[in-house]
Amino acid sequence: MLRKISLLICLFVGNAFAIDDAAVSTQWGYKGNVGPARWGQLNSDFIACSTGKSQSPINIPKKVPHASGQLAFNYSSSKLDIVDDGQTDLTIGDKQELILDGRGVQVNFPSQDSKESITLNGKNYRLIQFHFHSPSENTWHGRSFPLEIHFVHQGENGKVAVVGVFVIGGPENMAIQKLAKHIPKVEGKEYTIEGEQINPADLLPATHQYYSFTGSLTTPPCTEGLSWMVLETPITASPAQIAVIRKAAGGANARPVQQLNGRKINYIR
Ligand SMILES: [Zn+2]
Repeated sequence: MLRKISLLICLFVGNAFAIDDAAVSTQWGYKGNVGPARWGQLNSDFIACSTGKSQSPINIPKKVPHASGQLAFNYSSSKLDIVDDGQTDLTIGDKQELILDGRGVQVNFPSQDSKESITLNGKNYRLIQFHFHSPSENTWHGRSFPLEIHFVHQGENGKVAVVGVFVIGGPENMAIQKLAKHIPKVEGKEYTIEGEQINPADLLPATHQYYSFTGSLTTPPCTEGLSWMVLETPITASPAQIAVIRKAAGGANARPVQQLNGRKINYIR
């Protein structure tokens, strides 16, 4: 799986975010001596985790100025392909992959031609993957949520834009149900679920007002220079669905909130 992550990062996150194999194979996690407080010391390529000044996640404070901006989602339904956590190779094709990497559930969009994208202030960013954190990493008015979904996009200029969506307990979510149903149970197998499709748009709330700020990857190497947009309105998932996603992560997989260091947060509706 580590090699798989490396390949993904090199292929799809571009040169600006490429890191070497040694860095990728450095063990890190959410507990003990490989936990978030230690990431910056685990590998010299992870130094931004401890010295960065615009790190993610953050707490979104109560008073933020309103600003103008434009964010549109161009997500559609496509075939779901399941890849397990073990020794299978990354497949590149026009399909989505559900990956359980020991740190959480992630769905990759490996095709360079995939249509899934956002338009942010007139610029297009292709959806590379989305994944789950439990509990939420960003917090809102000091409040944490049971889950947060991160939709990771990349623009033609290599710039990365992440959209965060909070999940609260409530009615079932259809898309999460499909993922929960197909989370790999056996290592070393890859399979396609015939006739199963998933639409990332089903993981978005009906209204898209959002908070905008600059930040970083919330996992090593904690690379900065990312555009973050956190949607204000949460979606719902049933407590059982939330439990399945959390269990797949092997427990909590959230980095604590980081200092703002004077960063500006805008509210856009
Ligand atoms: Zn994330």
